[in-house]
Parts: sequence; structure tokens; C-alpha cells
Amino acid sequence: MTIESAEQNKKVSGNVKTHVIYQYVMLLLITTTLFIPPQKKGKIMTTYHTKALILGSGPAGYSAAIYAARASMKPILVSGMQPGGQLTITTDVENYPGFADPIQGPWLVEQMEKQAVHVGTDIKPDYIVSVDLSKRPFVCVGESGDTYIGETLIICTGASARWLGIPSEEKFKNFGVSACATCDGFFFRGKEVAVLGGGNSAVEEALFLSNLAAKVTIVHRRNEFRAEKILQERLFAKPNISVIWDSAIEEFLGTDNPPSLTGIKLRSTKTNEFSELKVDGAFIAIGHTPNTELFKGQLDLDAAGYIITAPDSTTTNIKGVFAAGDVQDHVFRQAVTAAGTGCMAALEAERFLG
Ligand code: NAP
Repeated sequence: MTIESAEQNKKVSGNVKTHVIYQYVMLLLITTTLFIPPQKKGKIMTTYHTKALILGSGPAGYSAAIYAARASMKPILVSGMQPGGQLTITTDVENYPGFADPIQGPWLVEQMEKQAVHVGTDIKPDYIVSVDLSKRPFVCVGESGDTYIGETLIICTGASARWLGIPSEEKFKNFGVSACATCDGFFFRGKEVAVLGGGNSAVEEALFLSNLAAKVTIVHRRNEFRAEKILQERLFAKPNISVIWDSAIEEFLGTDNPPSLTGIKLRSTKTNEFSELKVDGAFIAIGHTPNTELFKGQLDLDAAGYIITAPDSTTTNIKGVFAAGDVQDHVFRQAVTAAGTGCMAALEAERFLG
């Protein structure tokens, strides 16, 4: 190892340590805050009432809010666990119409928020923990202890990154295993990383990481990507990205105290043979799960957990409840289609109230 690369490694491990300490402190703060009931924090609970209660702050939620506000419904939008939704962890956006040059996901969603506020949306930075859809108006209670009552409810809670769900993944989560290159890629500057998956997300994550990491390896369970051709062309043009086809991650490997990833154990999906790949980081990009846990038993969901809406509509099985964006769309899942269905939901909610 050269003096230069030893220095670089020292810096990177310094960065990783700072990151780990930061994550511990944040976790401690979040858990202590979460587990003190709002009453004990001395907070006065408030009940809000609106004609249009919107849950979620991605393109679907903001579009619904813009249309509902312009229809004088005085919407309240509860922004949720990840304000801004998936766009906040996206880098270049080239396919949202209206922008000739690539724009950044967080910037786009910030503009949507400003537009929604400008036309009269009341945005509440809260996270809904329970819903009662048994009768109208619908009652939602936030983690803050506040209650939100909607004459109509527009659900735009989106979808979250899926994990493999194996024990070693849990062990190395935040210690080398991540589901967000834009959030954590920085910590792998000059290092070797793997990305699991073959869709747009995996290819975009790999492209993003290739500008930071020394080497990026995509591991995909089949021998072709489902990602768009234009993204694949960019990927294959990158000299520091390689692909391991027909392989799955069997186990994450590393050291203990504190956990630190050193590699992954791969299984060939063709021959079932095992091999190992040395990496410092692994990014999981294997699709998304709809955020519908709250609505189980109240709304009709499909086998994968997506809210079922009527054809050409955002109506659900409960009159007055509408669903828009990735929480009900397992086919297109684009920012622009989410915005489109958000608009539909607001128009349908307005018509429903008559
Ligand atoms: P996706 O398109 O569903 O792709 C998921 C990938 O992960 C697939 O290649 C799948 O393999 C693989 N996979 C799933 N489960 C796995 C497992 N247990 N082990 C190993 N591999 C597994 O998901 P996505 O890439 O997150 O994209 C979601 C949606 O968002 C898509 O509609 C996509 O077009 C959209 N999106 C668009 C953009 C953009 O337009 N710029 C960017 C990101 C995402 P198989 O191929 O074998 O099924």
C-alpha cells in the first residue's frame, strides 16, 4: 500500500467512524423522542379539520394538494416519515417534462412544496400512526398526538426501498450495507462497492457510485437488466463498473465490534455454486414495497400490498378515500405518473363532495 493510499484509507475510515457516531447519536435522539408520549412532552394536542386530507409529500401528494387548494378545499397535507418521498434520494431527473436540462430530485420536490404552499396548502410535518376509515369524516392520528379529520382522504404514502431480509443484512445495515447511494455513497470514496438489482434504481445507483468509488460491481440475478436502454448504455460505457450476471447475494461478510462489511458471498442462480466478492459497501436496489401497513384490514390491497383503485380512477373500496402515486401503482411508478394520479385524486375528491 502506498503512503498516499494509506492516508486516503485513514481519511475514509475517519469519515466512516464519524458517520457511525453520527448515526448512533441520531438513533438515540429519535428513539428517546419517539417513546415519550406527546402528553408527557407537555404538548397541547390539536385537532385539524379539512375537506381534503392528503397523506404523503411526494409528487402525488403535492399535485393533489395543488389541485385541491385551487378548488378551495383548503387541503392539509401531512408530510410523513420521509418528507419529499423518493425524489429526495434521486440525483439527476431528466424525464420530468418542463426542464430542458437535468434537474435534481430534491430541488424538484422543493419546488412542488413551494407551489402547494403558494396556492394555499397547509403542510403538517407529522407522521400518521393510526387511521379510522370506518365512517366519514375520516380520522387520522399523528405521531405528534395531533388529530387530522378529513371529509375526503387522499393517500399518497408511496413506496419504500425493499431489503433482502437476511440476518447478515440487518447486522451490517449502516455499517457497509445501504439502500441509498445518494445518502451514503460519500462514505465509499475510493473504495469498492457492489449494487444488487437490475432495474432503473440499481443502474442509477451504480452510475452515481462510479463517480465516487474506485470500482462498482452490479450483481444481478438474471442475465439481462430490466433498466431502460439509455441507462444501460451509460452503465456499459463506464470503465469502473462491471456486472456479475446470474448471481444472488447469499450473505454479507465482515468483522464485528463495530460491524464492518468486507465482502459478500454470492450464489450462482444457474449452478448454485458459491463465490466471494471483496467489497467495502453494498447497495440494495431491488425494488420497493408500498407503504400501506396502516390501511391493512380497512382498504382493499392486492397481493403485493398495493391499494386497489378502480380502473381509470383513484377511488378505493371506501367512498371518499382516494389513492394516488406509487402506493397504488406497481406498473409505471414514475414521478410524472404519480403527479398525474395525484391530480386525478383531487379532482375526484372535489366531485365526490359535490
Ligand atoms: P424494479 O424495476 O422493480 O427492479 C428491481 C430489480 O431488483 C429487478 O431487476 C429485480 O430482478 C431485482 N430483484 C427484485 N427482488 C430481488 C431479490 N430478492 N434479489 C435480487 N434481485 C432482486 O425496481 P426499481 O429499479 O427500484 O424501479 C422501480 C420503479 O421506479 C420502476 O418502474 C422504475 O422504472 C422506476 N424508476 C425510474 C427511474 C427513472 O426513470 N429515472 C429511476 C428509478 C426508478 P428481475 O429483473 O430479475 O425481476
